[in-house]
Amino acid sequence: RAKAMGRNAFALFEPSMAEGAEDRLRLETDLRGAIERAELAVHYQPQIALANGRLIGVEALCRWRHPQLGSIPPSRFIPLAEEIGVIDQLGTWVLEESCRQLAAWDWQGFRIPRLAVNLSVHQLEGTRLVDRVRAVLDATGVTPERLELEVTESTIMRHPERAVDALQALRALGITLAVDDFGTGYSSLAYLKRLPLNRLKINRSFVEHLTQDGNDDAIVRAIIALSDSLELATIAEGVETTDQADFLRRAGCLEVQGFLFGRPLASEELAAAWA
Ligand code: C2E
Ligand code: MG
Ligand code: MG
Ligand code: MG
Repeated sequence: RAKAMGRNAFALFEPSMAEGAEDRLRLETDLRGAIERAELAVHYQPQIALANGRLIGVEALCRWRHPQLGSIPPSRFIPLAEEIGVIDQLGTWVLEESCRQLAAWDWQGFRIPRLAVNLSVHQLEGTRLVDRVRAVLDATGVTPERLELEVTESTIMRHPERAVDALQALRALGITLAVDDFGTGYSSLAYLKRLPLNRLKINRSFVEHLTQDGNDDAIVRAIIALSDSLELATIAEGVETTDQADFLRRAGCLEVQGFLFGRPLASEELAAAWA
C-alpha cells in the first residue's frame, strides 16, 4: 500500500514540480526587468486609530503585474528578489515611489500622517541603507518622523548585533521603526529591549481567531502588555471582523490594519476612498 501511495504521490507530484521549476526560471528572468518595464506598483493599505476610525497611516505594499501571468503575489516575488539579488533595487524603488506619492498627496491637501515601508533582510544588512533612506527623504521632502520602516523579527534575529547597529543608524535619521509579524519569529526579549523600536505589529495569525480561540486571545493580550511595558505602540494587522476590532480595543491596542477598514489600494483608489 505504501508503494502504491508512493507511486501515486510521485505521479501527482512530478509534473507540477517540473512546471514549478520552469515558472521559477521565467519569473527570475522577468523580475530582473520588471522595474524598468514599469510592471511594479505600490498599493497602500490604511492604518486606523481604533478610538475614532481616523486614517493615521498607510503601509506601502509592492505589486507586480506580469504582462502574461497577471498579478503575482509578493509572497512569491519578494523572496525571489532576495535570492537573485534585486531586492535592494526593488526596495529602494518602493521607498522612492511611496515617498513621492506621500508628498504628492500633501500637495493635493490629502495629508496622511505616516507612511510605513517594509524592509528586507538584505536591505537591513547592506551598507548603504542609511544613505539611501536619507537621499530619498531629501529628494521627496518627506520629513523623517513620517516614515516608518517595518522589519520582521526573523530579519532582526538573523544577525542581531548587526541589526542593532543598522536600526540605531536609521533611528538617528529621525524615522520610526516597527517590528512586523511580531510573535511569529523568535525574538530574544533581550534584543527587543536593546533595539530602538517604536511599534510592534501583531501578526495576522494571532488576530485571525480572536474571540474564538482562547489561546490567541491570551497571546494577543500578552503582546499588548509586553509592548506597553517596553513603551512601544501596538498595531494589529489582518483585522477582518468587528469582533476582532472590539476585542483589540478592549485589550488596549490603539491601532489596526485589515480588510475590515480597507484593503491595499492603488494610489488613486486610496485617495478616492479617504481624501
Ligand atoms: P506584511 O508586511 O506583513 O503586510 C501585510 C500583508 O497582509 C499584506 O499582504 C496585506 O495585503 C495583508 N493583509 C492586510 N490586512 C489583511 C486582512 O485583513 N486579511 C488578510 N487575509 N490579509 C491582510 P501582501 O500585500 O500580499 O504582502 C505580503 C508580504 O510581502 C508583506 O507582509 C511583506 O512581508 C512582503 N512585502 C510586500 N511589499 C513589500 C516590499 O515593498 N518590500 C518588502 N521587503 N516586502 C514586501
Ligand atoms: Mg509590513
Ligand atoms: Mg506583517
Ligand atoms: Mg510579512
